[in-house]
Amino acid sequence: MEKRQQLYAGKAKSVYHTDDPQRMILHFRDDTSAFDGERMESLARKGMVNNKFNAFIMRKLEAAGIPTHFDGLFSDTECVVKKLEMIPVECVVRNIAAGSLVRRLGVEEGIELNPPTFELFLKNDAQHDPMINESLAESFGWATPEQLAEMKALTFKVNDVLKALFADGGLLLVDYKLEFGLFHGQIVLGDEFSPDGCRLWDANTRDKMDKDRFRQGLGGVIEAYEEVGRRIGVDFG
Ligand code: ADP
Ligand code: UDP
Repeated sequence: MEKRQQLYAGKAKSVYHTDDPQRMILHFRDDTSAFDGERMESLARKGMVNNKFNAFIMRKLEAAGIPTHFDGLFSDTECVVKKLEMIPVECVVRNIAAGSLVRRLGVEEGIELNPPTFELFLKNDAQHDPMINESLAESFGWATPEQLAEMKALTFKVNDVLKALFADGGLLLVDYKLEFGLFHGQIVLGDEFSPDGCRLWDANTRDKMDKDRFRQGLGGVIEAYEEVGRRIGVDFG
């Protein structure tokens, strides 16, 4: 596989063409953003840590029968993925109340959500990723009802697999965001799964071990990501 010109640079990853029109290379940079890109910082080792973390999770999900875009590692900070036609809708599942749910509803952080909740957000930085619903997604053509139903089912399946995986490492999977795309008409999990896009708390102390350490200026961001990785068996080399 040969890396070709850059197609797109997002806030934390860059996307490259390859010699295969159906494959792309995702480069995980050290850049870290919060609050819709208002705050940007470079954190040493982050690209490598998230690339290897993501590879480990994607392989676990594939093994559980969840279709993902992940093909394999390309370097310490890059992986090869299937080129998807991305659906501009973010799927969020929550097992415990935190973040925007707490701000929006005024509920207490840390309460258990039973059953877990499912929310949709439009991927649109300029509009601050507004919350949407299935009706809006259908009317505006962001996704069909069938696609949304499949995305929801897959997002909950991911919850079953990952809640158990993190529990074995003494961690609570509080919430997470997933993005999907189409590959030959099939809904496939895209983008990444790393502590940048989920919340993970230590099960005993409830210490935050995810991107909230960056958002809240708690320090030790990458050290926490590495600790999470070690607890679930990621090999950072
Ligand atoms: P953001 O778009 O939030 O700034 P990133 O910095 O992570 O995010 O940029 C990565 C971009 O690549 C995102 O827009 C994401 O939707 C897109 N992407 C991720 N995986 C794939 C894929 N397999 N095919 C096409 N696009 C992808
Ligand atoms: N999330 C994300 N990207 C986004 C929005 C949310 O990765 O653009 C993740 C976030 O890290 C958390 C979950 O989705 O794990 C739920 O986020 P929430 O709605 O609480 O928003 P936040 O408080 O992060 O603004």
